[in-house]
Amino acid sequence: MGNRGMQDLIPLVNRLHDAFSAIGQSCNLDLPQIAVVGGQSAGKSSVLENFVGRDFLPRGSGIVTRRPLVLQLINATTEYAEFLHCKGKKITNFDEVRREIETETDRVTGANKGISSIPISLRVCSPNVLNLTLIDLPGITKVPVGDQPPDIEYQIRDMIMQFICRENCLILAVTPANMDLANSDALKLAKDVDPQGQRTIGVITKLDLMDEGTDAKDVLENRLLPLRRGYIGVVNRSQKDIEGKKDISAALAAERQFFLSHSAYRHMADHMGTPYLQRVLNQQLTNHIRDTLPAFRSQLQTQLLSLDKEAEEYRHMNPDDPSRKTKALMLIQHFGLDFEKRIEGSGDQVDTVELSGGAKINRIFHERFPFELVKMEFDEKELRREISYAIKNIHGIRTGLFTPDLAFEAIVKKQIVKLKGPCLKCVDMVVQELITTVRQCTNKLRTFPMLREETERIVTMYIRERERQAKDQVLLSIEIQLSYINTNHEDFIGFANAQQRNNQTSKKASAGNQVIRKGWLTINNISLMKGGSKDYWFLLTAESLSWRVSEKVWQ
Ligand code: GDP
Ligand code: MG
Repeated sequence: MGNRGMQDLIPLVNRLHDAFSAIGQSCNLDLPQIAVVGGQSAGKSSVLENFVGRDFLPRGSGIVTRRPLVLQLINATTEYAEFLHCKGKKITNFDEVRREIETETDRVTGANKGISSIPISLRVCSPNVLNLTLIDLPGITKVPVGDQPPDIEYQIRDMIMQFICRENCLILAVTPANMDLANSDALKLAKDVDPQGQRTIGVITKLDLMDEGTDAKDVLENRLLPLRRGYIGVVNRSQKDIEGKKDISAALAAERQFFLSHSAYRHMADHMGTPYLQRVLNQQLTNHIRDTLPAFRSQLQTQLLSLDKEAEEYRHMNPDDPSRKTKALMLIQHFGLDFEKRIEGSGDQVDTVELSGGAKINRIFHERFPFELVKMEFDEKELRREISYAIKNIHGIRTGLFTPDLAFEAIVKKQIVKLKGPCLKCVDMVVQELITTVRQCTNKLRTFPMLREETERIVTMYIRERERQAKDQVLLSIEIQLSYINTNHEDFIGFANAQQRNNQTSKKASAGNQVIRKGWLTINNISLMKGGSKDYWFLLTAESLSWRVSEKVWQ
């Protein structure tokens, strides 16, 4: 393919984007794309506006981008913008573009600052842009504002994941330079889906705001946290520049000057800045499309076949036909059954490729959770020290004759508190799997996109509500165990038995290949914890989520 032909690849995929969004989200084809991710105020909007050379994105505090914005940049001789939802209307006033994005966002999300994963598609033709398609996503946030749903953080995360988990998606991870790279939300998310850093491109903004005497040379030379596609530094307009209506061409000139005059960046000035970033992205997206084209083509063909089949079914359908309502009801009913089957297990359509639904939850409880508990190692020396301090502190100025109960309690309680982390993590993992399962089940509703979205929303909300209750319950159980230690319990077996059991388990351990870690022996869900000094033995029994201290012996 000649260079000219290569340059046409992006517009070609753009046309596919349009075609698919015109027929609803149902065609979830894996189109090659670039998603822009980053924390709030990382500078995502600024980077996009610099590409276009115009101010056109909504600004403000809080979550401004609340729907994905598919931004198609097309190199052309005249400049105008056009929304897919108002096709044919060429807008030349970019303030109007901003207002339309705001209106269109609110139209779907309501004015209460909720979010929606239905994209807005905007095409900008301009002599100043290179062919490029980017998806602007909501910034990663932590705290809900106003009447935003309390789980807004998860919702945003889920939405970003929907886009970046696809192998075909390049991830533009935007991180401000005046923040530690290790804390970058964008890089953390990217790492989850692209652990090798194969399809992540790092963008470092706010280089002008770094503390005097520090610079990002190591990062930009791709030495600190290497990515295969490297990092590019940019300097966008500051808030003051924007308020002072500094225009973008002046800002780009200032950016260039910044790199040329900075001693840490001068040697790589030609590989820094917005115009360079634009060129690199154009190149990488084109290459990416070229590389994925064959797989993409066959995927398209498969989809075509199945759509043809589906179309056949609808050929004789009348949209006002009451049977359509019946069909929707039936689908909902099936959704319920399907979900139950996936959780409870069933003989039909058994997946042989990977664990899913109930089987995965089972594994979380029986493998992941115990593993998390075993991981909860403790330092024996530290524990010895703690025990001895606890005893001394309880005796006070007296030199005690007997070892006090209180010391035992204090130490045991400290160990029990440590269970909170793994238990909550277990709940998190189960919830994640439930939500994935819901998504898989709603797949069958794809011929009714609104019904699907609404079903997913309601069921997910319900799961989140339950999640909160489950976590409260888990914490309560642990509180209960903490508040009273019952040495009268039937499991209280005395020192001799505990020791005998320990001997047995050590024998078993040496016979089989049981893992022994720093004083923890884990056999058949029973963990024997040897508390350093000879005086203290206690036994913890695991019964799924409820733990209790069941044994206390001393000499
Ligand atoms: P977004 O939330 O990621 O879209 O971030 P914005 O692009 O809206 O930027 C947030 C704030 O940071 C704005 O006030 C920008 O003017 C400012 N900002 C972004 N990039 C830079 C930069 O490179 N240098 C300076 N000084 N300010 C920047
Ligand atoms: Mg923004």
